[in-house]
Amino acid sequence: MNFTLHVWRQAGPQAQGKMVTYHVKDISPVSSFFEMLDVLNAQLVESGEEAIAYESDCLEGICGCCSLMINGKAHGPDRGTTTCQLHMRRFKDGDHITVEPWRAKAFPIIRDLVVDRSAFDRIMQAGGFVSVNTGGAPDGNAIPISKEEADTAMDAAQCIGCGACVASCKNASAMLFVAAKVSQFAHLVQGYSERRRRVLNMVEAMDREGFGNCTNQHECEAACPKEISVRFIAELNREYLTANLTSI
Ligand code: SF4
Repeated sequence: MNFTLHVWRQAGPQAQGKMVTYHVKDISPVSSFFEMLDVLNAQLVESGEEAIAYESDCLEGICGCCSLMINGKAHGPDRGTTTCQLHMRRFKDGDHITVEPWRAKAFPIIRDLVVDRSAFDRIMQAGGFVSVNTGGAPDGNAIPISKEEADTAMDAAQCIGCGACVASCKNASAMLFVAAKVSQFAHLVQGYSERRRRVLNMVEAMDREGFGNCTNQHECEAACPKEISVRFIAELNREYLTANLTSI
């Protein structure tokens, strides 16, 4: 398969960026999107040009690194799919494909398609953990928690922190990410005792990082490769309100 790629190139955080057009030939339909980009990079290096910088790690859809806007969609055209799980057979031979980085003030560009997502790390450091000493992993059946609660916690825990929700939101809101992380711990017995302090600290950290506000348009849920539901945002709002009322 042959493709024409329009890729955002930017030498550094302060440099002027621009779209650059490249052609790649003889790409196997079973190649992943990153294998196709690797072919392009090999081509660029061979011709003495600077390789395109992009981020990937696990290539199994769980690390959250592969932050690419593909044809204007976070992680590309498929629902519930990370960029590393996207294959070239999803496109038509001869297609033009636009590849851009996440664009959000809180995710500044480092180079080309790589953005700095450490804002998420700082939100997690503000409360996204359980500080109770829980010891080793207990037997699943010994955890005093209902199946429904455990399922809800696991649904929320599927968030891989990729930032697609931010990149696809017109306000660059991080509400779906924060909601998933707050809910993940609020539904666990171990996380329950710190839930009030956690939600207040994490929302404060989110605001400090400069993310926008949620206006309930659900673009985040549509773009999320882990299909995290916006109902967690409603839960985050409830948790936040309750924490505020009970901390007065
Ligand atoms: S909520 Fe979904 S889109 Fe947002 S960071 Fe988590 S996995 Fe990525």
